[in-house]
Amino acid sequence: MDHLPDLKQAEAILSRMHSLEAKDQQVFSARVDQEEAAVCHCTLCPSRDQEEQYDYCCQSLFRLPLRKNGQHLREGLKEKLRDPSTPCICLNPLFSNFLLTDTATNAAVALRNYETGTVDMDENRSRRFACYRLIIATVMGPLGRGIRVRLPACIISEVRKRWPSHSNTGFKPSDVLDD
Ligand SMILES: [Zn+2]
Ligand SMILES: [Zn+2]
Repeated sequence: MDHLPDLKQAEAILSRMHSLEAKDQQVFSARVDQEEAAVCHCTLCPSRDQEEQYDYCCQSLFRLPLRKNGQHLREGLKEKLRDPSTPCICLNPLFSNFLLTDTATNAAVALRNYETGTVDMDENRSRRFACYRLIIATVMGPLGRGIRVRLPACIISEVRKRWPSHSNTGFKPSDVLDD
């Protein structure tokens, strides 16, 4: 029993794991200033003080140099957003009429429950989770499977608004990933 870390140590280890994970999922090349990527040009991102370190605006995907997973995300968006004139990708019909709707997410939840044989009793959490996966699957296609990529802050914020969390734990980037 002497080898168990105490609570403080365990918390420090966990927070280090989360920040490594967040870093691993970021989409911009190393020379991009994270604060520049966070500047909102789309009007729907939360204010910076409500965001996490690696949060970024959707429009930064189209303005700044990207790592490979970010390029993959950008190319998928360019292909799927038929009318790219909206200031934020969340206002594009692909998102507003399809990805961010109850109809689409309920279908994604049902399919997930069917595949896993389990049901998450927290309905909104299962909808948020299903919606993130649906976005990755739709935008990146089969090549998106297992890819670690952080979604823009505006998307995360819109998803949370539609299907709010009853606890304050909020969204962790790892929610998006495969099991
Ligand atoms: Zn923005
Ligand atoms: Zn946006």
